[in-house]
Amino acid sequence: MKKNAETYLIRGGRIIDPAEGIDDNLDIMIADGKIEDVGKGLDAKTAMVIDSKGMIVAPGLVDMHTHLREPGREDEETVATGAAAAIAGGFTTISAMPNTDPAIDGPGRIKALKEIIKKDAAANVVIIGAITKLRAGIELANFKAMKAEGVPAVSDDGSSVDDNAVMEKALKAAAGEGLIVIAHCEDIKLSQKGVVNKGFISTKMGLRGISKESEYIRVSRDIELAKKTGAALHIAHVSCAESVDIIRKARRSGTKVTAETCPHYFSLTDACCATYDANTKMNPPLRSKEDVEAIRAGLADGTIDAIVTDHAPHTDSEKDVEFDFAPFGIIGLETALSLSIMELVDTKVLTFGELIRKLSFNPAKILGIKKGSLKKGMTADIVVIDPAKEYAYTKDSVKSISKNSPFIGWTLKGKAVRVFVNGHPNPTYEVG
Ligand SMILES: [Zn+2]
Repeated sequence: MKKNAETYLIRGGRIIDPAEGIDDNLDIMIADGKIEDVGKGLDAKTAMVIDSKGMIVAPGLVDMHTHLREPGREDEETVATGAAAAIAGGFTTISAMPNTDPAIDGPGRIKALKEIIKKDAAANVVIIGAITKLRAGIELANFKAMKAEGVPAVSDDGSSVDDNAVMEKALKAAAGEGLIVIAHCEDIKLSQKGVVNKGFISTKMGLRGISKESEYIRVSRDIELAKKTGAALHIAHVSCAESVDIIRKARRSGTKVTAETCPHYFSLTDACCATYDANTKMNPPLRSKEDVEAIRAGLADGTIDAIVTDHAPHTDSEKDVEFDFAPFGIIGLETALSLSIMELVDTKVLTFGELIRKLSFNPAKILGIKKGSLKKGMTADIVVIDPAKEYAYTKDSVKSISKNSPFIGWTLKGKAVRVFVNGHPNPTYEVG
């Protein structure tokens, strides 16, 4: 990553830094890649001034759930294109999930991926290791060796660890190494071969449904095992009301569990799937209106700590098939911020400060990485957001190789207009 020797003064923006309890009109001075000062009326000296009146200036967004597809499916996304999409969306740090081909299940694979990141990524990339070798759910990966390579968390995301005993062993080992376990919660015996939320819509469409039980029964199991082992458990992509309730109760009783959801789970319902557009097919699936309300309530009361993208690129040729046969997943790095502003801040579910907390500070805190704050001396990872900017989200504008988004054609509101990564500025479009 290039360090920028130049100095910049971000002047007159509304600085929101939940870590420091700041929500005020201030200036930020950036020098040698770090935040040198935050305060009122800072002297520009030789710094390049970036006028940010009317803008929100926040710590760079941190995505703790990103699928980059490299190695193995570089036709869908690469580290380089995923990082470019991240920056366009205001994310300065993303987390590469290990379900690549081959899976990132040991120190050798991590080292190889680190080389690609060092060479190609314009954003920070955190590597998540697999829970089990080849993500096969049988034998634990070498947690100690992966931890030594700097991995903060393990996950078999894409699949749940099906065997109770293997999951218990994984949580115990992760606790011993100080690793977080990110759990994709799905009982495939309950969801097997389903393609859309089980209910009225699946019946109407004549497609097999994925029950909510397949998710929340597994959420329960993983929480019980985390309680027993003392492990730090993080529940991935919560999609239904029952999961929110179970996590809320567990937290109230003192269990060390955190949770995330994705913008599509608070923006869309399974009614969208009735068009048979494969870009509305994801796992877990879009649920009912009641579930959307429960996800919003879970975000509002703090049960759900983080908003993540679950950015899952698939090419047109993969998605342009019958709903049944299309792969699960949508891209999300370039739409997460706008959808969160529109669906959560504009609707008064969250304040802007609370939103920044869930998109930056909390994911950084869960992963235990030094990100998500504008404190003096921190690496200058910053996003400048125009909260009122309206723009058409078109296929041509997408930085990802894959264009699989149900939001293409939407007019979105609230955009990252400038992003600093390690003090290096990346204008996403020219301001003013
Ligand atoms: Zn998953």
